[in-house]
Amino acid sequence: MKKIVLFFFGLVMCFFDLHSQNTEILNLTNKINQDSLQQNVIDLQSFSTRYAYSPNRKEVAEYLKTRLEDYGFEVVLDSFLLQTGWFPTAADTLWQYNVIGEKQGIWAKDTTIHLMAHYDSRSDMEGFEDYFNFAPGADDNASGVAALLEIARVFHQNNIQPIKTLVINFFAAEEQGLRGSWDRIEKISTPIWQEDIKAVINLDMIGYCTSDSTDYVFDIITYDGSEALTQMAIDFSEDYSILQYNTTTENNYASDSYSFYAYGVSSVFLMEHEFTPHYHTERDVHTTINYHFMREITKVAFALAYECSVNNEYGTVTSIDEVIKPISEVKIVSNPVSKELKFSCRNLEVKSRYTIYNQSSQIISEGRVENPNGMNKIDISNINNGVYFLKIISENQIITKKLIVLN
Ligand SMILES: [Zn+2]
Repeated sequence: MKKIVLFFFGLVMCFFDLHSQNTEILNLTNKINQDSLQQNVIDLQSFSTRYAYSPNRKEVAEYLKTRLEDYGFEVVLDSFLLQTGWFPTAADTLWQYNVIGEKQGIWAKDTTIHLMAHYDSRSDMEGFEDYFNFAPGADDNASGVAALLEIARVFHQNNIQPIKTLVINFFAAEEQGLRGSWDRIEKISTPIWQEDIKAVINLDMIGYCTSDSTDYVFDIITYDGSEALTQMAIDFSEDYSILQYNTTTENNYASDSYSFYAYGVSSVFLMEHEFTPHYHTERDVHTTINYHFMREITKVAFALAYECSVNNEYGTVTSIDEVIKPISEVKIVSNPVSKELKFSCRNLEVKSRYTIYNQSSQIISEGRVENPNGMNKIDISNINNGVYFLKIISENQIITKKLIVLN
């Protein structure tokens, strides 16, 4: 595959091809769905404007909160007061709402990986200039938000449980000077609330590309001190996408990852290479997006999120069932019961046992659960009428069911 690598300030980036494709990550990246991405962008554009000063800004934030909650994230709206001095009136003193969604790490919950995309938009360089009403911001930056929602969906629907806490940040008022991300990093870097932030993956403008799919190029925008993360992005673009990459420091100050980098956090910023001609205009609409291209960048972002939060020095946990046992279930079929007790089981341990005891805790019958993943039958024809309990003992788990016998 052809690679484009730019060298800055005489810095030569050497890399050795020691990385290899991980089939688990490959399978998961293939689940990133182009139609979902497109629908997300359309839904975000349907707000008409996501301009930071628009009265609907909280409504947009609430919508994003609900979307992340649907994918099992714990979400808060974290507010801050925006004052830029750009507007002479009270319009410049407005509450803004960062949307912060967390999927807590099971082993290292205070160690975090931050995915981020700003959700506000602006449209200010055309004749129309009614950005309070229309600032579609499809590429800038519904595209980045759409990608993170899709990554959240794939994490959730495949039961991926991170080891470190995965944080998805949808920042407000980026267009007013990265205000959302500055506010957030200032808060979470205070001594009381300090997180150990391992990595930032920022997506801003990832949907514009007019090339043939054999010539898709995207930017890996880099930061000093983030070489390992940059290398990971390079490796993953080779392993899990059809993209060619361009590493650059250009524009690295121009989006939310910069705020976190300024606080010493290892950061990378993924962006389209062919800058959209509709930037900050009312023409930045969803029909200008190349969703096939956008899916490829989303795959790289997914692989980074996965590798950083799941597959790392704490060990490898590829899916939830290796850490948390699948939920075991026992159901009694038709209660009250006569002559024969039937109960169905799901996800019990092979060596599970059952006990039937009465209200005085005397054991009436016990034995092995013959079918830990299906129907079981026990003869109870010689048990007196009354209330009993069926207790199932599986590894680390006890399930008790009340049983009424009417023989
Ligand atoms: Zn942007």
